Amino acid sequence: MSQLASQIVSGDRAALARAITLIESTRDDHQREAQALLTELLPKTGHSVRIGITGAPGVGKSTFIEAFGLYVIEQSHKVAVLAIDPSSSKTGGSILGDKTRMAKLSQHDHAYIRPSPTGGSLGGVARRTREGMLLAEAAGYDVVIVETVGVGQSETEVADMVDMFLLMLLPGSGDELQGIKKGIVELADLIVVNKADGDLKAQAKRVRTDYSAALRMLHPPLTSPPQAGGKEGGNWQPKAVTCSALLGEGIADIWQSVQEFTKAVKDSGELPRRRAHQSVAWMWKEIRETLLTRFEQHPKVAAQIGAMEKAVASGTLAPTEAAMELIGLAGKV
Ligand code: GDP
Repeated sequence: MSQLASQIVSGDRAALARAITLIESTRDDHQREAQALLTELLPKTGHSVRIGITGAPGVGKSTFIEAFGLYVIEQSHKVAVLAIDPSSSKTGGSILGDKTRMAKLSQHDHAYIRPSPTGGSLGGVARRTREGMLLAEAAGYDVVIVETVGVGQSETEVADMVDMFLLMLLPGSGDELQGIKKGIVELADLIVVNKADGDLKAQAKRVRTDYSAALRMLHPPLTSPPQAGGKEGGNWQPKAVTCSALLGEGIADIWQSVQEFTKAVKDSGELPRRRAHQSVAWMWKEIRETLLTRFEQHPKVAAQIGAMEKAVASGTLAPTEAAMELIGLAGKV
């Protein structure tokens, strides 16, 4: 593992790919190796800007990430893109992966693009993405983009692992705008109305104005100190902008916004607070998931759980009592 770690730190892309594969493996021995690797690399992580990008299929995410990534590389950065494909875990089908995406960016020496593997629970995919992000940081990528389709559960998971959350919208209005779930706008640090070109330009500007107003209502200027881990604070006021990923317009301004955001959350101390909160929340999530899995797999529990569920469903056993009995059966989980 030490050798692999030093290869990753030296920027060896094949080593990074191998390490991500190790993290994605569900084998116990691989998981142990992966965790040892992560522990060794931890001091080398944390030095990137972590950007989450979400938006409905077709909004222009891959076109944007390609243009944005190439621009950021021009500014002497290295860009890693990790894509979460929520459809893949359920149906085996893919929203993200069917077409060639980001062809130019993927060939660039200073870019690393990795789609999330298909299969597994969303929690598993999110964990691997988060760990992939840490590995990419250790490999020297100082801008890490986590992409997800804004139609599933994964966008809140992504918001919880990045510094800055960017929501892409189409220049439509009302319902047609939103393949996006409720609550996502609240999570956004930056809203990008894409396709602000040609006939859609004027409409894109109107949509931006509408969302600017919505964001001001959602995030009134600060009057009290920020809460740990909260969205508020950090002297950053979420805002809406337009861009044309196709024409490359607005890309430089968005990178400027990312830098302003980063400066604001660093200067105010919000960034380390947010990341610390995310790490602790991640630990608890791991604990909850692991305990629950062990509980469900406990032989005595597994033998009884069906009958208990039936009894609860039919009203012959109170839910709390059933829960207590099952927990009692498991003893020490
Ligand atoms: P994704 O599904 O969100 O990754 O969307 P894509 O990047 O694949 O883009 C979907 C379609 O929208 C493609 O045909 C793109 O060429 C087009 N598109 C993307 N960005 C723009 C833009 O800024 N302006 C216009 N007019 N079309 C765009």
